[in-house]
Amino acid sequence: MRTPIVAANWKMYKTAREAEAFCREFLPQRSRARGVELVLLPPFTALEAVARALEGSEVALGAQNLFWEEEGAYTGEISPRMLGAAGCSYVVIGHSERRRLFGETDEHVHRKVAAALGHALLPIVCVGETLEEREAGRTEEVVVRQVKAAFHGLAADEVARCVVAYEPVWAIGTGRNATGEDANQICGLIRRTLAGLYGEGAASAVRLQYGGSVKPENAAEFARQPEIDGALVGGASLEPGKFIAIAEAFVP
Ligand code: PEP
Repeated sequence: MRTPIVAANWKMYKTAREAEAFCREFLPQRSRARGVELVLLPPFTALEAVARALEGSEVALGAQNLFWEEEGAYTGEISPRMLGAAGCSYVVIGHSERRRLFGETDEHVHRKVAAALGHALLPIVCVGETLEEREAGRTEEVVVRQVKAAFHGLAADEVARCVVAYEPVWAIGTGRNATGEDANQICGLIRRTLAGLYGEGAASAVRLQYGGSVKPENAAEFARQPEIDGALVGGASLEPGKFIAIAEAFVP
């Protein structure tokens, strides 16, 4: 039985003070989502403040990105070691905004996944097709390519620890979500792809999230799909009440 996991991707929103205010309002409601692992993913500048606020709460902390080197002359980058020291246990890798706006390639995603695992950080690896790719009937080919590239050369026990978020690019921040059935079908494809490469044991341990305009009104549709183990939530995660309502839909 996989523990559901719901994560709040705050993108480039919230200062450290605003993040603390979120935690003050959110933590007293945490028990509404008992049995669901919750992860907050603030911007780098709010990590320390959120780490302090979450102490003793059983809510996990993660970052939205990392660079694969341990340290060095890489202006503007943050290393896996720094994230660990800041209290992170998760890191989002390959979000479509990073692929689209910052030129991240499948190879970059792969290097970041390997670096994260090497520093005991759990990757939340984002995959998903653009609208153009979907309309050209290439959804499955694109998702399988991204999954294969991200985990290439890793051991089954490393892959088993990862989370994969299926986020169709056309559904992110648009208010236009995939149907539960469509998302479930692609998550099934991801699991079968991983099973073919790393065995049934690893594939059945990997947790698969859906992401793309998830909100309290549609969360249950995704939560009842057998292949979907949680959600990666952007816009709706900025409000404590909405985020907890989404997480509540995944209570086992
Ligand atoms: C995201 O940022 O990963 C995301 C899914 O955003 P939204 O929920 O706003 O579509």
